[in-house]
Amino acid sequence: MEETNRFAVLQLSGCAGCEVSLLNAEAWVDRYRLVYMPLVISAYDVPEVDVLLVSGGVRTDEDLYNLRRAARRAQQLVAVGTCAISGGVASLGDRDEVRELFLAGEGRRHVPRLLPRCRPIDAFVNVDRYLPGCPPTPELFMAVLFNPPDFKPSKIVCQECGRQKLQRGDPRASRPTHLVGFQRGEVLPGICLINQGYLCIGSSTRGGCRAPCPRAGHPCVGCRGPSDVLIEKESSVWFESIGRVFAAMTDVPAGEVEAALRSPQLALFLFQFSDYAGGQGRPPRPKEKVL
Ligand code: SF4
Ligand code: SF4
Ligand code: SF4
Repeated sequence: MEETNRFAVLQLSGCAGCEVSLLNAEAWVDRYRLVYMPLVISAYDVPEVDVLLVSGGVRTDEDLYNLRRAARRAQQLVAVGTCAISGGVASLGDRDEVRELFLAGEGRRHVPRLLPRCRPIDAFVNVDRYLPGCPPTPELFMAVLFNPPDFKPSKIVCQECGRQKLQRGDPRASRPTHLVGFQRGEVLPGICLINQGYLCIGSSTRGGCRAPCPRAGHPCVGCRGPSDVLIEKESSVWFESIGRVFAAMTDVPAGEVEAALRSPQLALFLFQFSDYAGGQGRPPRPKEKVL
């Protein structure tokens, strides 16, 4: 990369976690010139840039205006994080009970006008690359900016996790009959969280994050989106894939697993699995474009 490369970060409706992760990837400082990022730079508008990173979903008319305006000035546009790719946290506002709460609130006229639904950014502008994660790790930000030849993300989170899946017949394997929730407390080290009754979906989720959650004893909730083998398939295919893993390793009823996958805390991330196939005005997202 030339030292003169300029990049900007446009933040739509999200939480700024992606920006914080980018700031932790400080090695870009010597090789890119950051010209717009409201969180840290006072600049009125996005100038012409080589790379535009966009975080956050399109939730308001202001988001849409800013996105279209900035996209015209970028040579390459990267959708960063679950919110830009699938709506993420802002799409929780599409739930009926949240809408009711918002519409009942006072002072709502002082915020930008909400669009009917939260949309990912590729419903409106062309996206050159996708960087899923909530947030993507600093290492992933570096990889999307510099494309280092030695960076090889694993295909699925399980390959980066380091926990061992114990199969039927292994004397150490107990077969859970029910899910135990997300954070029960004590977690056995070295053993797959599924063997311990946790709903971990690392086997369907694309790698690259280095599995910080299951390493720390928390189930992977799929924030990196679908792995390459699932990315261009219907959502029913990954549902079945997760179901097969649980059937092989546990005696948890299939209906219980499926109901838990549809719970709000998991659905936030898992909705994006079906978004990769395109539809509803969005182009399909080929795996070659996804880091
Ligand atoms: S993807 Fe996650 S970290 Fe990034 S803006 Fe959305 S909620 Fe925040
Ligand atoms: S299912 Fe989860 S805990 Fe088990 S190996 Fe995969 S990522 Fe690790
Ligand atoms: S382990 Fe799963 S939830 Fe955690 S960062 Fe990686 S993909 Fe996201």
